[in-house]
Amino acid sequence: MLTNTSNKKISIKAKEKKTKTHIFSGKSSHLNSYEAKISKIENSCDINHRFVFMHNGQCLASVNSEVILFFKATDIKNKINSNNYIFLGEFNNNLIFTYELNRKELASLEKTGNFFDLRVLAVNLSIIESNFAAKATILIDWHKNNGFCSKCASKMRQNLHGQARKCINNKCEYQIFPKLNPAIIVLVTNQSHCLLGRQKNWPHKQFSTIAGFVEPAESLEDTVEREVFEETNIKVNSIRYHSSQPWPFPSSLMLGFTAVAISNTIKLNDNELEEAGWFSREDLSSGLIRLPPTLSISRALINGWIKGEY
Ligand SMILES: [Zn+2]
Repeated sequence: MLTNTSNKKISIKAKEKKTKTHIFSGKSSHLNSYEAKISKIENSCDINHRFVFMHNGQCLASVNSEVILFFKATDIKNKINSNNYIFLGEFNNNLIFTYELNRKELASLEKTGNFFDLRVLAVNLSIIESNFAAKATILIDWHKNNGFCSKCASKMRQNLHGQARKCINNKCEYQIFPKLNPAIIVLVTNQSHCLLGRQKNWPHKQFSTIAGFVEPAESLEDTVEREVFEETNIKVNSIRYHSSQPWPFPSSLMLGFTAVAISNTIKLNDNELEEAGWFSREDLSSGLIRLPPTLSISRALINGWIKGEY
């Protein structure tokens, strides 16, 4: 049983920088800088190491879902029969790791919180906490889905403290690194209106900006033009980069843009959307439609336009 629960969370919120960074974002820690420190944990369970626990794609957090529970390394000593810890980064001189608990290990944990989906947690977490949770989600999902070597079909094992996987066949030793799926998301404007669409499986009146995955050999601008035309028949120019947001469901990177329409007639060319339309600022403020959640880059794009930033 784990008994020391008093010091499991780190005071992160007070230290967080005030930036325009979207939820889930964070600067990746350069593994080489931490190599010597990390090697200690596998032998000594250094007191300054902390763990974010995951199970079935969900993250262990306080019952009210307001903070991630960071377990001290000494708390989990002898509770986990593995060294497959995945390095996430550093905060306040604490090296942060994640680990996917199996059922037996889960049963040995004292009931101190609940496992939550990241979409639920993201509403309350600080940006840096959300970044650790997002990175944990992406890396654990990637390790689960890359069990075998694509060159020789042998098993692969975790390498570089979870930042890579390597084939166990000593004649192969193929090494792979996590892949992200880039996707564009764009707010298209036409003078006093913006273009929003609704997918079939979304709640009634729920609309969002146009989005889609980048295809092989496309520039981001190509993707913006293609996706907007495929989904709505609208042609655009004046494509401008806005910002980006990691989207760990499971491993996307959303690249946000604004663009100006040079045509006006909407037609749902690829039927990916159930409906699309032009909306004024008054429409968006009046509750005529439901906007995307505040944590999303889509909402940030819309809010920027409502404020007249572009
Ligand atoms: Zn191999």
